[in-house]
Amino acid sequence: MRYRYENFGGIISSESPAFLAYVDRDYMLSLGFSNSSLWNTFDTSINLLSAPTEVHFAITNKCSVYCPHCYMGAGTEEIGELSTELFKDCLNILSSMKVFHIALGGGDALERPDLFEIADYARKIGIVPNLTISGINMTPNISEKMKCFGQINISMDGVYEYYSVFRGKNLFEVADYAIGCLVKAGISTGINCVVGKSNFSHIPKLFKYAAKKKLNEIEFLRLKPSGRCNDIYYKEKTTFEQNISLIPLLSRLSQKYGITAKIDCSFVPMLCYHNPPLDILDKMAAYGCEAGNVLLGIRSNGSVCGCSFLNPSNVSIFDFASGYSAEKYFKDLLSWTSFAKEPCKSCTYLHLCKGGCHAVAHFVEGSIFYPDPECPKKTSLMHGKRT
Ligand code: SF4
Ligand code: SF4
Repeated sequence: MRYRYENFGGIISSESPAFLAYVDRDYMLSLGFSNSSLWNTFDTSINLLSAPTEVHFAITNKCSVYCPHCYMGAGTEEIGELSTELFKDCLNILSSMKVFHIALGGGDALERPDLFEIADYARKIGIVPNLTISGINMTPNISEKMKCFGQINISMDGVYEYYSVFRGKNLFEVADYAIGCLVKAGISTGINCVVGKSNFSHIPKLFKYAAKKKLNEIEFLRLKPSGRCNDIYYKEKTTFEQNISLIPLLSRLSQKYGITAKIDCSFVPMLCYHNPPLDILDKMAAYGCEAGNVLLGIRSNGSVCGCSFLNPSNVSIFDFASGYSAEKYFKDLLSWTSFAKEPCKSCTYLHLCKGGCHAVAHFVEGSIFYPDPECPKKTSLMHGKRT
């Protein structure tokens, strides 16, 4: 079990069974941990973590697929991509911050020949590496080597003829073959599905496929205007009706097929629309926009952003060598709720949702300080529908 202290108590983590739990000071003591200097204050207004729990690391910007909706605009190698040794230095910094997980992606991580060296090194220093790939170049030999990862998800926005709905090319057979190799190797395998207007109605088929393949999860990601996706955002963003029907649909299909359905942080306004009980959301540690606090994005050249969908800052991961402070590096992003405008200002879920996706707000409204323009609560208020 891994742990770290926090102002409220601590965070404990295990891989089998897989969990990450936020626990209070008494619970930490009951587990045999001693007092922490972080507990010298009872100021409960301090709600920032000592460091992110999860870092999304683009290991390379190289990718041969050139999907039109790629949030990284991946294709060719980024200028200044980190060498293997510098990558390991970054991992040492993340380890000293006691980061629990890194999600390696790109670009296509398999295009980087030192992928396994980097993943093995992360394991060696106590960080669990997870991976998202397209599935291109997968072989049975490679899937055997992938046992060092905690969870591997294959990007797939639809099955069979619907695979190419955003991707231009139909690589379904390639992705399907990769999934077969990973499952055969006994690796926890799932799907990452970007949800837009055109593939929404095909979601049930994706569940049916995942159940047939015995996958353990599907993670649904909102289409976000970042990278090349800027060009198709307005055409492909989900409609109001789709936004309000997503959560009931996923809940029904998840139960029917016995597959865990996850939504990313940017879908939290679509969840809040249904007025879920706050105490249950709190117990589940559900969170909305936690860019720079729970989450952090790092590009393949080491530049850091609040999350992978926000513009890179002029901060480098190497600036954290002497310590991390969310308040110092991401003050603007994290102070958003103090300036929240309506309808967020009086929304019951503001402390959890944090005003929805600031990457979408930045693209549509020109500033991260606007409420999420696609929040169904906002839209329904404008149109006089129920909230
Ligand atoms: S009104 Fe704002 S805080 Fe409330 S759910 Fe919508 S985006 Fe989130
Ligand atoms: S801006 Fe916030 S809500 Fe949007 S993807 Fe990033 S962390 Fe999630």
